[in-house]
Amino acid sequence: MNKIIIAIDGYSSCGKSTLAKQIASELNYIYIDTGAMYRAVTLFALRNNLVSKSGLDQDGLIAVLPEINVSFSYNSDSNISETHLNSENIEDEIRGIEVSSHVSKIAQVKEVRAKLVELQREIGEDKGLVMDGRDIGTVVFPNAELKIFMTADYKIRAQRRFDELKAKGDVISYEDVLNNITSRDNDDTSRSENPLIQAEDAVVIDNSQITKDEQLKIALQYVSDKITQK
Ligand code: C5P
Repeated sequence: MNKIIIAIDGYSSCGKSTLAKQIASELNYIYIDTGAMYRAVTLFALRNNLVSKSGLDQDGLIAVLPEINVSFSYNSDSNISETHLNSENIEDEIRGIEVSSHVSKIAQVKEVRAKLVELQREIGEDKGLVMDGRDIGTVVFPNAELKIFMTADYKIRAQRRFDELKAKGDVISYEDVLNNITSRDNDDTSRSENPLIQAEDAVVIDNSQITKDEQLKIALQYVSDKITQK
């Protein structure tokens, strides 16, 4: 079979992981959420008082990086791949606003990126992979056969993420979600190490006005074009 690598990058909360999971399930590919890896390192840093509202102890974090082991395990009941930090399942804990509000700072650290990018490349060695993040098509897999760059109006993204968190029972305001999204976009696009940029050969999907099903249909057409071209 012509297995390919599908790299999905884009702004915060624009549905990258939803689309990536759907594509992976249609094609029977592995799905890797690289944001979860940065979130796992952030949780470790929070638990060890290496990051707080007042700042980040960057040298301290770099020193303990060898102690941080991030992995995934497939949960066949929920049908999702869950994130583990040193063998502990932290899938729920990394999705909350506390981790979200510190993760972009952690993701700016060169040594953190180097460690996670290496791990991401190892996972992708055998192809048949959908990976989403910010630098997948530009840095992790610059030769990925299909690169999708996703975007949506920031207010629509904030509303969708707010509805999602509220449904999960999180106590949070729409304004806080909006501020988190805009500040992460700003950090992610302006950092010097592997910033979020659209790869030249990426196709763009703006899902502000389309449904998840329409979006999947568009993406699967791109996939099938690439697989037949191969
Ligand atoms: O994708 P998600 O929103 O969960 O990612 C959390 C954060 O991790 C992003 O805001 C970004 O700062 C960082 N990230 C990154 N590079 C990636 C994936 C995520 O810098 N490949």
